[in-house]
Amino acid sequence: MIVELISVGTELLLGNTINTNANYLARMCAKLGISNFYQITVGDNEDRLFNVIKTALSRADILILTGGLGPTEDDLTKEVTARVIGRRLVEDLDVKKSISEYFRKSNRKDIPENNWKQTYVIEGSTVIENHNGTAPGLLITTDDKKLIILLPGPPRELIPMFENSVVPYLRKLMPGTFYSETIKICGFGESQAVTIIEDLIEGQSNPTIAPYAKPGEVHFRVTASARDEEEGIDLVRPLVNELRKRFKDNIFTTKEEENLEDVVVSLLEKYNLKLTTAESCTGGLLSGRIINVPGASSVFDEGFITYSNDAKEKYLGVDRETLDKYGAVSKETAIMMAEGAAMSTGKDAGLAITGIAGPDGGTLKKPVGLVYIACYLRGKVQVEKFNFNGDRQTIRERAVIHALNMLRLSIINQYEK
Ligand code: ATP
Ligand code: MG
Repeated sequence: MIVELISVGTELLLGNTINTNANYLARMCAKLGISNFYQITVGDNEDRLFNVIKTALSRADILILTGGLGPTEDDLTKEVTARVIGRRLVEDLDVKKSISEYFRKSNRKDIPENNWKQTYVIEGSTVIENHNGTAPGLLITTDDKKLIILLPGPPRELIPMFENSVVPYLRKLMPGTFYSETIKICGFGESQAVTIIEDLIEGQSNPTIAPYAKPGEVHFRVTASARDEEEGIDLVRPLVNELRKRFKDNIFTTKEEENLEDVVVSLLEKYNLKLTTAESCTGGLLSGRIINVPGASSVFDEGFITYSNDAKEKYLGVDRETLDKYGAVSKETAIMMAEGAAMSTGKDAGLAITGIAGPDGGTLKKPVGLVYIACYLRGKVQVEKFNFNGDRQTIRERAVIHALNMLRLSIINQYEK
């Protein structure tokens, strides 16, 4: 089965809107085991859209179009698709009813004239209800058995429609399934991590291992093509277990939807620990990551951003002598920051970052990318020195990941071993 993704909208071509729909749909199709060879972006132009649809129909089994289903003049997707496949547009009374209902619920009495355009659907199509907007989606099977799926542009409308209505439909079309599990690792660079499992990657066919690198993290996705989920699990599990053996504690999760801060917050919750942060070069990125997790308030009350030496002294009790002797970016200062943060707030854990994010401020002895991270946890403190590569933002992101990972490992070592 081959799918072609067509994103419609001049705003995409102008770079005003990032094409997150194509990215989302590509990932979903890959998960469903549907091959995608072309992704096309086309403006709100009748002739060009006509040609794009026609070409796509000549080389794919399924077309997914997003955008241009709205009520305005430049929304042409439905009209042009109908023309390409030689069908009429017909009024759909159910759609008419649900549009009236949508406006009633949003407390808007006057339905704009334009919106009635949306009550017309392509003859012979199946309507996909839109619970978050007025434009319904459409599923059309053409005379030569191709499937065309029309979806609205706004992601908050498209994603629920795709997940609730289109995925179950596509699943039924696919002969077998794809099953995958992801393991997420911290503490290795991508090439270093790949080297460790080179023998497993070599000559693989089913299941396959695909590495994916993010700043400070490497993810391995193990995917098997199988008759059903059960067979998929049987194929994937031995390989996942082998990865577990090789990467041990460096694996922070095997759940697709879970990230490092989720894991850290869960561990803190599990052992009833409270955390505070002391950040210099990351300026709040670390506390921001923690607060990303819903429910973080059960483990996190406050954090410090102490960018200057004065602030480190004033809020964290880092002493002047240490700052003068070793400098703000040093092992000694990092330790005092972590301990000072935990002590002054009476918390179980203090996590501190101090470093040189660049682009200026580096010296021969203390180059850009030098970062010290200290983790204090219930009487024990450890500190690590890092030399990160990358620009200012990347260095700061890497520092945050490694800090979270250090805390994760400290909790595991202190409470689970
Ligand atoms: P509407 O009823 O809002 O007009 P529509 O189906 O006609 O919906 P468009 O007019 O093409 O869709 O796009 C509406 C908005 O949806 C855009 O302004 C943009 O914010 C968002 N959008 C459209 N296409 C994409 C895309 N490919 N990726 C991300 N966002 C998109
Ligand atoms: Mg529109």
